[in-house]
Amino acid sequence: MSKYESINPYTNQLIKSYPNATQQEIDQALDVGEKLYLTWYNQLPATRSKSLHEIANNFSKHRKEMAKTMTLEMGKLYQESLEEVDLCINICNYYADKAPSMLEPTTLESELGSAYYLKQSTGIIMACEPWNFPLYQVIRVFAPNFMVGNPIILKHAHNVPASAELTEKIIEEAGAPKGSLQNLFLSYDQIGDVIADKRVQGVAVTGSERGGSSVAEAAGKNIKKSTMELGGNDPFIVLADADPDVLRNVLGDARTYNCGQVCTSSKRIIVVESLYNEVMNILHDTFASLRPGDPLNESTTLAPMNSQKAADKLAEQVKKGIEHGAMVNYQYPEIKSSGAFFRPMILTNIDKKNPLFNEELFGPVAEVFKVKNEEEAISLANDSSFGLGSSVISSNVSHAQEVASQIETGMTVINGRWITAPELPFGGVKKSGYGRELSELGLMSFVNEHLVIDVSK
Ligand code: NAP
Repeated sequence: MSKYESINPYTNQLIKSYPNATQQEIDQALDVGEKLYLTWYNQLPATRSKSLHEIANNFSKHRKEMAKTMTLEMGKLYQESLEEVDLCINICNYYADKAPSMLEPTTLESELGSAYYLKQSTGIIMACEPWNFPLYQVIRVFAPNFMVGNPIILKHAHNVPASAELTEKIIEEAGAPKGSLQNLFLSYDQIGDVIADKRVQGVAVTGSERGGSSVAEAAGKNIKKSTMELGGNDPFIVLADADPDVLRNVLGDARTYNCGQVCTSSKRIIVVESLYNEVMNILHDTFASLRPGDPLNESTTLAPMNSQKAADKLAEQVKKGIEHGAMVNYQYPEIKSSGAFFRPMILTNIDKKNPLFNEELFGPVAEVFKVKNEEEAISLANDSSFGLGSSVISSNVSHAQEVASQIETGMTVINGRWITAPELPFGGVKKSGYGRELSELGLMSFVNEHLVIDVSK
């Protein structure tokens, strides 16, 4: 792990460095979290609704400050940062309103006696989060667990420490009980120690396969429940009856939102041959019309990558792919900037032997595959170790639903690109991880489904 540093990727200038947590700070955070868990354990979730609404209100109050902080340290377009804060406000309000009834006991039919199960809190949950949506990734775990009664210890990515601190501050200032969310700048070794601590009952990870497998290993060793929201290589399947207007609208930002750094970006565009030229033209127009610049400026539509290291890594992956036969159909012209820009590109001719075939490209690179028919499209979509999201573009919705059911991913959007909302479950299969965040499914991730049965006759 690198140091916790806030670096503006538009200038590559260091804004501020942050020291790692001390052992004393870690012990104190665990004590405070445990105390809060025990207090919350005897309170109904509904008693926390007002507080979560107040947290949402405080994010509204600090909307611009939060958005600017995220843009400054990971480079996303300011407008996208504002959208992220708004989404998080919705998530908080959603759980504040809906969680109390979702967390009511469920009655079970049994011949053995009258039975039900409670949905109880379990303890401190550690959240290991990535930089790509510095607030959303945290709130996806925080809001539901706040209602369940599980305090959060946050280990955020090393390059978004200011966002992590501000998130903690906004929650605290809203009047949330001390310990509701505690941010710690932990080293990898310290993460292992926290997971092993008996006061910690679960780990939620969003990140790459590399981070996920390491944290999942520590969780498994210590018999701690975990959820893994990992990478994706999402197929975007264009069927022969796709509506060209829908295609144009959807492809507009399916690969370029957040500078292509979305786990569910449409990374593999799989097109039946009759629409291949149409799709290539749309992608070409979309990429060529991007305007690079300062992500804080409203007129900018192409942001820098989150860091120079990420831009260099992507360039290296692409170079290797080209050496193995991939062809560059388009690349954006030279960008004169000292920032971490990557020139968006369209790649074709990626065969199964190419290392790119089964790698996630986390940036503005569209990989386009021409297929003969729908059957070949489905087979290619499923030929991946990832299984996060997918899209199917077709003017026959019921047929698209049949196609969706044949794709091995956790989510499929028909006639759209990736999507997220508080009421919709988010997550994948295969190396994209396990478990779900958001929706009622996500709310239950770290709940003790405590069976109570009366067998007295
Ligand atoms: P990452 O390197 O795995 O980092 C994610 C988090 O895990 C960070 O806090 C990171 O800390 C920590 N971490 C990394 N390696 C670790 C290790 N060996 N031991 C303990 N902690 C470790 O992922 P990223 O590159 O920042 O994020 C991009 C990835 O996230 C992409 O693959 C993307 O698809 C995926 N993602 C998935 C979803 C989803 O919902 N499925 C959503 C968003 C992103 P440091 O920063 O200190 O290394």
